[in-house]
Parts: sequence; structure tokens; C-alpha cells
Amino acid sequence: MDSAALSGVWTDLIGQEQVVATLQRAVSATESDGSARAMTHAWLITGPPGSGRSNAARAFAAALQCRVGGCGECNACATALAGSHPDVTVIRTEQLSIGVDQVRELVRRAAMSPTLGRFQVLVVEDADRITERGADALLKSIEEPPARTVWLLCAPNAEDLVATVRSRCRRVELCTPSTAAITELLQRRDGIDEVTARFAARVAQGHIGRARALARSDAARQRRAEVLALPSTLTSLGACLRAAGELVETASADAAGVTAELDRREREELERSLAGATGTGGGARNIKQRHAQAALRDLDEQQKARAKRLQRDSLDRVLTELTSFYRDVLIVQTGAGADPINVEQFDQVERIAAASTAESTIVRLDAILQCRRALETNVTPVLAMESLLISLSTTR
Ligand SMILES: [Zn+2]
Repeated sequence: MDSAALSGVWTDLIGQEQVVATLQRAVSATESDGSARAMTHAWLITGPPGSGRSNAARAFAAALQCRVGGCGECNACATALAGSHPDVTVIRTEQLSIGVDQVRELVRRAAMSPTLGRFQVLVVEDADRITERGADALLKSIEEPPARTVWLLCAPNAEDLVATVRSRCRRVELCTPSTAAITELLQRRDGIDEVTARFAARVAQGHIGRARALARSDAARQRRAEVLALPSTLTSLGACLRAAGELVETASADAAGVTAELDRREREELERSLAGATGTGGGARNIKQRHAQAALRDLDEQQKARAKRLQRDSLDRVLTELTSFYRDVLIVQTGAGADPINVEQFDQVERIAAASTAESTIVRLDAILQCRRALETNVTPVLAMESLLISLSTTR
């Protein structure tokens, strides 16, 4: 793997040389041709969480706008990468789904000619969250695209997309970047010292964003250590229930920490714009009041959905850490040659490994998988976590 070969807007796409080569070829085809004829109008960028899907999409968008295919230095490159280029629209959602109204808005944009740039580029970061009605609205634009419009859809797996949309996209697939590549990136891009970068890259298991968060935050490292200390403390039913309650509470606090200020600002803005609409008399005022109430209710629902998703993301990180712990336990139990992830907790890993069998570890890993699935449905987080920790309990 030769990350030195990446330059310009592609620099940070470590370990993705093949994808970069494909995208570069597409960009240079539009240049040599001088037109947009050679361009594929809909791309699907897939790859595991943390592999850099949205970074790849942004780099591609920048390269398409750049006069020399993604130098990384000109104004087009800089604004496209920063998200302020007028002809690059990036949709990132904190909601659980992207509805038909949002997609229609994008489709309207897609129909417009670029104002300054060479292409009208639309990036949908969580295309797997587009609803079925949204996908129908999208389909028309992908089927008969304007000459200079390019859609860049990002999703973990191609299968997460509606088949009709998927089949009309050209697909590129990112791989999980290596520990060495992430270590190098953290040092070069984020100025992290080598020891910390190495640690963060190892324990983040190929997730670049997670590695960066762990490298930069004492609190994140501390939280991770607490989660890894959990398995040894699950010695009674009471301990399991208590720990589950604490995990969910912490996850809610995490979510609230992110949303509190945002919620308040959004509500203030909406109230201000609604207040500006009063001042008329009679029946018109009643209608406006009803509209205002509906708008506030909508906002309230969106904010709740966002908090719920953030809480779920936080619990999902807990499950990822626990999976890595029991993976290490299984390595010890089976004598498999793989390197342990949790070197710092190795005495605890060895203790649990000695006190249980490989079969029971596989059952525990399966319980973590089931918990992850349960959290994606409407099971309350507390119940899902209680049930998991009881399965992990050392009394079993
Ligand atoms: Zn450039």
C-alpha cells in the first residue's frame, strides 16, 4: 500500500488507491473530451463505516469542479472540500430517514445548470436512509439526468439501497484502511504523536473517525476503558441491571450534550420566523396559528428522532468495544495466531478466557449481534442492554 502516491484532493483517502484510480480516470475523461458526455451521472460509493465514504465523495466532487482534476489548492478544490462550493450540495442527515420532500428539493437542484463550476454535484451521505417514496422521486433524475449533473450516493452496502436506484449507479467500493495507514494519517493530518496515533489506529479497527476521536479526546479513551472493564464486573443479576442502566444513561447524556444547544437554536429560529408571520387579523391569523403549531410539532419530532439516533450511535460504540474484547478472549481460548486488539486489558481478557469456554464466548458474541439488531428496531435501549449484559454475565 503506497499512500505517498495520493496527492491533491485525494491525499487523505488512505488505502483506497484503486477507488481513487477509478475516480481519477472518470475525471480525466471529462477533461480530455472537453464535455460531460463521457461522465457517469450516478455513482454509488460503498464501504464499511469509517472507511471514508463521504471524504471520497467530497474529493471526487472537488476533482470534477477543478480545472486540473483535483489539484487540492485552487479555489474550486478548496470550496468543494469545505462544503461551500455553490455547485456542490451535500446532504447529511441526523434523522433516521431522508424523506420524499428532501429528495424533491435535491432533484430540483439537480435540474439546474452549474453556476460557476463544471458540474452540478449532489452528494447524499446516507443514501441508505432514503425512503421508498424518496427513491421514486430520485429515480427520475437518475434516469434522465441533465448533461452536467452528477449524483454521488454513499451507503455502507449496495444492498441497503432500493434495487431500482442501485442498478442505475456505477459502483465503487472502499475497503477497510490498515492500522498502519490510519496511524500515518493521524500523525500527518491531525498532528497526533506517534504513540497515541498507533494506539488509536489499533483499537479503532479501521474506523478513521473513531480513531481520530480516540486520539484527540481523553474522555473518549477513558469511556472506552470503562466499557472494556465491564465484562469482569458482571458477577450478579443486580450488577448487570445496574451497568445496563448506566450505559443507557451515559448514551443519553452523550446525545443531549450534542443536541441541547442545537435544539434550542433551531426552536428560536423557527419561533422568530413564525412571529414574523403574525399581525394579520381574523381568519387568516387562525390559519397561521395552526400552521405555527404544526411547524413546532414537526420540529419537536425531528429533534427527538435525532436524539434517539445519537443515543443509538453511542450504544453502538459500546457494542463494538465489547465485540473486540470477546474477540480477544476467543483468540486466547482457541490459540488463534491473530494479534489482540485490547493489549491494555489483556489480563482481564486472559481471566475471562480461563473461566469460560470458546463455545460460551461465541454465544456471547452472538448476544452482542442480537443486541445490535434489537437497537435498530423499537426495543427500548434499556431492555436491549439488560438482556445483553445478562448474557455476558460471568455467572452463566
Ligand atoms: Zn483544484
